[in-house]
Amino acid sequence: MGTLLDLLFPPLCIGCRRRRREKLGLCPDCLALIEETGLSGCIRCGRHCLPGKCAPLDHGYSRVLSLAIYRGPWRLVVQNVKFGQDRTVAKELARELAALALAADFIPPDAVVPVPGAGKSWRDFDIIAMICRELAMTAGAPVRKVLLRRPGRPPQVELNFKGRLEGLEDYIYIEEGTEIGGIVWLVDDVYTTGATADACAKALLEAGVGSVYLFILAA
Ligand SMILES: [Zn+2]
Ligand SMILES: [Zn+2]
Repeated sequence: MGTLLDLLFPPLCIGCRRRRREKLGLCPDCLALIEETGLSGCIRCGRHCLPGKCAPLDHGYSRVLSLAIYRGPWRLVVQNVKFGQDRTVAKELARELAALALAADFIPPDAVVPVPGAGKSWRDFDIIAMICRELAMTAGAPVRKVLLRRPGRPPQVELNFKGRLEGLEDYIYIEEGTEIGGIVWLVDDVYTTGATADACAKALLEAGVGSVYLFILAA
């Protein structure tokens, strides 16, 4: 869509808003600033943490795969697809994550499961759903929205670090009697403390899942 328009007014780089986009919404200069994590990221936090210095949290997932550090131009790209509804870039990001899953040689999952939204309002565009579809296609597994969220808890961004870690288990749940097992690829957009992903992973494990792998755009 908009091919002629794109020719006349090429979309500008999300990072600097000056040069033309090349890939993932960024110009070559801004692309060079991205701190890619991919296969080199820590399996617990997805970042480049120092050995033995990773936050000592007991995670429910076995491994996290993230595209890049949530800083600089990458932060702008992720915020742009999350709140700016840039579908073209969103699709590129979803494909990038699917390619990373293949490169990581993960065991194919039995299901791809989205982290449930904060439930403020139903958005017609959902980056997490888009990533789920790409990963499901790549892995040949179904997307299953088994995780649910009870209303009433403020969104994670409105809480401090301690608040983010407390009581999430009470809000994230799986309907009793839901049959799910084997390996699950869990999908979220951004990882901050990992509390949401952990609550989701723990709910999945309790429901009978064997192991959970977490996929995110940024950590
Ligand atoms: Zn740029
Ligand atoms: Zn780490």
